[in-house]
Amino acid sequence: MSEVSNWQIASLLLRHAKLLELAGESAFRSRAFSHAAESVQNASESIAILAREDRIRDVAGVGQGIATAIEQILTTGSFAAHDELTSRFPETLVELITVPGIGAKTAQRLFLESQIDSLVALENALESGKIRETKSLGLRIETVVRSGLEQIRRRTGRMPLGIALPLAEAFMAAYRAVCPADEITLAGSARRWEITVADLDFVIVAPAPDTSVQAIAAMPMVSSVTYCRERTARVALAGTLHADLYFSKASTFAADLLQATGSTRHLELLGELPAEAASEEEIYANRGFTWIPPELRAGYDEFDRSALISLLVTDRDIHGEFHAHTTWSDGSGTIREMAEAAEVKGYSFLGITDHSHGLGIAGGLDEERLAAQRYEISSVERTQSVKLLAGAEVEVHRDGSLDFDYGTLARLDVVVASLHSGLRQPRAALTERLMRVLENPNVDIIAHPSGRLIERRESGDFDWERVFTVAARTGTALEINADPSRLDLDPRMAQAASGAGCLITINSDAHNPSGFSVMKYGVKMARKAWLKPEQILNCWSRERILEWLAARNPQV
Ligand SMILES: [Zn+2]
Ligand SMILES: [Zn+2]
Repeated sequence: MSEVSNWQIASLLLRHAKLLELAGESAFRSRAFSHAAESVQNASESIAILAREDRIRDVAGVGQGIATAIEQILTTGSFAAHDELTSRFPETLVELITVPGIGAKTAQRLFLESQIDSLVALENALESGKIRETKSLGLRIETVVRSGLEQIRRRTGRMPLGIALPLAEAFMAAYRAVCPADEITLAGSARRWEITVADLDFVIVAPAPDTSVQAIAAMPMVSSVTYCRERTARVALAGTLHADLYFSKASTFAADLLQATGSTRHLELLGELPAEAASEEEIYANRGFTWIPPELRAGYDEFDRSALISLLVTDRDIHGEFHAHTTWSDGSGTIREMAEAAEVKGYSFLGITDHSHGLGIAGGLDEERLAAQRYEISSVERTQSVKLLAGAEVEVHRDGSLDFDYGTLARLDVVVASLHSGLRQPRAALTERLMRVLENPNVDIIAHPSGRLIERRESGDFDWERVFTVAARTGTALEINADPSRLDLDPRMAQAASGAGCLITINSDAHNPSGFSVMKYGVKMARKAWLKPEQILNCWSRERILEWLAARNPQV
């Protein structure tokens, strides 16, 4: 029997995590399994080998319980707890929660009340009217299912950048470990920071490509070698993702990298590439251009705008964030831990904006707890160099009203307003709802304005032109949410918003102290939108921001 691959182990652990959630069992256990699945997926060593050496627990997030499960998977292909769970809840149930709009609770009801246990069964039940006819489900669930299935049909099947990029980094680290003499560089759409990617591309300077391919085939992340030609190879990675490898030599590396990075349109505009060059910079210079960073190589107007490139926002321009969560709502870091992480990041301010109660999550803040939290924020702040802004991520109701009353909001340093539900309202209603929020003098920032989740939930249908016009007038900042599952506003919309005169803010929406690491995605999206620091609230000086917030704050 061939060895069980890391991918096979990871996908079983992940299915178990989802099934636990679906079965309504411990959320903590479910998270532990999905965290372990991610570590196993990105492990640079083969888990089967680690097991033989009794080192499974070296993998981050793998405790005794999960280590035992992995050992059982390696010998039997499954594990006892999973077999027990699947005897009650079939594994295909996991398919139901891939449908936008269907969460664990709805999936459980569909199964327990209508015996719908897979995507196929769901489609059949929709067609036969079974969902509508089941009393506890009814027309409302039928509508959700219909629209969810339609959204799935419209999906691209591409992998979100936030999953692809860490995978690419793990692949390169593993490659360097087995081929230390080679040099591997990321290319393709992932190097261009495209929001989703179809595959991963790497350019490799290798003295002996044949030997390198053999080493690659044995890497635990690689499930098979699809083909191998003289200078290129394709290997299958996790799921349907594959990696294309281009073997190069030092003298042709720059041209090969440029070619493999694309985009096709960009290369057309750049013109024929030389066979050999010392660097990408040299190739651009020989054509009379400055070097264009990969994230701007869209093949649109980047050559005309190239004089602006040196003025665009960079990671170093971000002095702080306005939108972060703590253990007061659904975050896992305390106020102090978040403040310390912000300080390590070099920030000079941080907005603490936990969810308000209307979101319906455990621990959403009511007025009383908000006041108590404010007290803790002040006491933590006295020991920190980071200026903490006491705020809230306030739920926007279906009619555009907010969770907190006027006085409560006016007492906060920063108010972030969000639409987390009702995003499928028709355009007129949805836009009106946001208008009310923009006109509310207490609201400083609209978080993740479109509400999209990449490859999972489509944007709300807003009249963006109106939204941008009004936001520019009210001075309400619009967010580029840097969480790679959101990247919302997306670059094209952020560019339009900024062009209409709107102020932009970039936030990680961190839910734990390491959550600030995704800021780099937000900055790249802002660069794709051609934004300069002046147009982004986070890049202003702390003094100027405090003045801006104070000026916006109506008198109580
Ligand atoms: Zn939110
Ligand atoms: Zn948030």
